[in-house]
Amino acid sequence: MHEHDNEYKQLLLNNTKWVEEKLSADPDYFKLLSKGQNPPFLYIGCSDSRLPIDVFTGANPGQIFIHRNVANQVFLNDMNLLTVLEFAIKTLKVKHVIICGHYDCGGIQAAYNGTDLNLVENWTMNVRDIAMEYKKELDAIENINDRINRLSELNVIRQLRQLCKTSIMHEAFKQNNYPQLHGWVLDIAHGKIIELELPVAEWKDYGLLPENYL
Ligand SMILES: [Zn+2]
Repeated sequence: MHEHDNEYKQLLLNNTKWVEEKLSADPDYFKLLSKGQNPPFLYIGCSDSRLPIDVFTGANPGQIFIHRNVANQVFLNDMNLLTVLEFAIKTLKVKHVIICGHYDCGGIQAAYNGTDLNLVENWTMNVRDIAMEYKKELDAIENINDRINRLSELNVIRQLRQLCKTSIMHEAFKQNNYPQLHGWVLDIAHGKIIELELPVAEWKDYGLLPENYL
């Protein structure tokens, strides 16, 4: 027997138990769930195992459409992300798009401090650009962890800006004036979600958001 067999088997045991609990509360729970999804939220977050967003927000299955990658990056040539985005906006017609970073993020740390993982370094190259752009602000923060956490915040705002550049978002705004955009950072040490202020007026000036965006 493999030494990790028990923790693996526990997952399946937990599933059986959870199904029983759900069915005893509502015998039709899975019948309803299997009929389809109509989630109001698209969530783009980090792959970090500590942040299952439905647990932190008390959301239920069917509420949040999810895309995750290391350090919640938005690349305009990432077919995976663009496919998720197109489906969420055009088919599911989500009303909110949330990009969520987090404090103590390994991807952000790797971008700031360097890493011996080449692919992570490639993947987070835009975060390094943000760090260079905001060098003055970041250097003024004495504590290195606070500095990297601030970089996590700046990264969320930058990735939302990236999202606004996609034709998918342009079209959605033109037709419906939604979805609403939200930038979050999860403060893992306290479990709290922090809402970031977005430079909406500036993005409107540059045509990234329509004038009537609220
Ligand atoms: Zn992370």
